[in-house]
Amino acid sequence: MAEVKTILEPARETPVRLEVDVLVVGGGPAGIIAAQAAASDGLKVALIDNRSFVGGNMTIGLPILGFLGQKGNQIIKGLPQKFIDRLKEVDAASEHRPCPLHMSLTLVEPEAVKNVGLKVLEEAGVKVLLYVFSAGVVMEGDEMKGVIIESKSGREVILAKTVVDCTGDADVAYKAGVECEQGNDDGGAQPPTLMFCMAGVDTDKLRMSIAEEPRTYLTDFIPAEYFGQNHQFIVVGLRSVMEKARQAGYHLPVERTILITGLREGEVWVNMSRVNGVDGTNPESLTFGEIEGRKQVEEIQRYLVEFVPGFEEAHFTKMAPFLGIRETRRIVGDYVMTADDILTCRRFEDAVAVASYPLDIHHPEGGGCTLTWCGDSYDIPYRSLVPKKVKNLLVAGRSISTTHEAMSAIRVMAPCMAMGEAAGRAAKLAVRHGVSPADVNVEELRAELINSGAYLGEDLTATV
Ligand SMILES: Cc1cc2nc3c(=O)[nH]c(=O)nc-3n(C[C@H](O)[C@H](O)[C@H](O)COP(=O)(O)OP(=O)(O)OC[C@H]3O[C@@H](n4cnc5c(N)ncnc54)[C@H](O)[C@@H]3O)c2cc1C
Repeated sequence: MAEVKTILEPARETPVRLEVDVLVVGGGPAGIIAAQAAASDGLKVALIDNRSFVGGNMTIGLPILGFLGQKGNQIIKGLPQKFIDRLKEVDAASEHRPCPLHMSLTLVEPEAVKNVGLKVLEEAGVKVLLYVFSAGVVMEGDEMKGVIIESKSGREVILAKTVVDCTGDADVAYKAGVECEQGNDDGGAQPPTLMFCMAGVDTDKLRMSIAEEPRTYLTDFIPAEYFGQNHQFIVVGLRSVMEKARQAGYHLPVERTILITGLREGEVWVNMSRVNGVDGTNPESLTFGEIEGRKQVEEIQRYLVEFVPGFEEAHFTKMAPFLGIRETRRIVGDYVMTADDILTCRRFEDAVAVASYPLDIHHPEGGGCTLTWCGDSYDIPYRSLVPKKVKNLLVAGRSISTTHEAMSAIRVMAPCMAMGEAAGRAAKLAVRHGVSPADVNVEELRAELINSGAYLGEDLTATV
């Protein structure tokens, strides 16, 4: 790698903006729930996010995957379910709809996610700071004492007894010197997608065309009957239609058409752009991804209108607020979850969440996707949320300690929310007992999770 030119910054006094018990960095699916869980018994909790809203990838038009397991039972409950209930109150979430390919789809309305996210944080007494980027860490040896933030006000510090890194990119852990990995053995990460929404789609025509002409409109794994029965649905496939479009000169970046109906009539979110080789931790690479993604979206819209039934009168309405990043850094924690753990439905004594989503790798080099199911569910161990060496820090969400393959399964939003609940409750116990998260009594944590409604397996009853 070319040597980077550097300068020496002068030392300076940095003002302390806040002092809290628990600081959650990043307000995505994991972060919202982590902050809510940590604040549940009166601790001083803050959450920061660099964007103007909370919700992370829950605001880019994706359905939440992972609430139901491969056997059809609900495996994510607790605060994540309560969040969906709050969305339902404002008509902004669907039921957990069974899906032959993804186990379940829970459709959510992106703008409502932002509103409800801020409301639940306010109700829990969490101090929320938006437009704030975590830029560094305050350390005393291996102990984290706080986070350095950058904003319009300049460089400041938030001191915290425990920090929960929910940035999706392990930004805090990385700055603290926690060993991190990125991508597969060659460094290749799953490519990002710029989601967009079309309105005026005749979704009944779309689903009935697939139901009635499955040979023309062949879908991956999802049987034609599904489309006959479901008004809210996901389409994955239409490969032969895309082949026709390619022969007509279209340049499409993926092998499969992926369409997700929105909650509003005639709305469809499109998950079809792919910008290979983007490094989600590098602004130059991210900028390239945003520009290239926008170019791809123009071509994809034309393809949909010309070739896909139901799109004849459709029009573009909105782009997601940012490029969706599937994969960046993963911490190396006290336990590294592997594909084998997932495929053997492994149980752990320190399980703090149960997940079931299959290995789902969008190939880093582009084009296809590989899905592998385990037939049931698997545990996420607490040790995978605990980074090696650095004290007073937990990680929740897609950047916990896993291999590249295992990350492709645990990354979907329902398990990220469940990990957020576990990390938030663990942070609270760490503060209450004056210990580092690595020394939290896991039995006490599991009992608290079960008592408060989280699902950790079939046979468990609450204990104190
Ligand atoms: C294109 C695409 C399609 C996907 N499809 C699905 C799907 O259909 N269903 C599903 O369930 N999952 C899907 N996923 C996966 C899922 O969206 C993510 O893995 C999940 O959202 C991760 O949650 P998280 O809370 O860890 O991180 P994120 O959702 O990324 O949230 C991280 C938050 O931290 C903030 N942040 C980041 N860095 C900083 C910083 N340094 N300082 C302050 N704030 C910061 C961000 O603004 C953001 O709000 C998809 C992902 C992508 C990209």
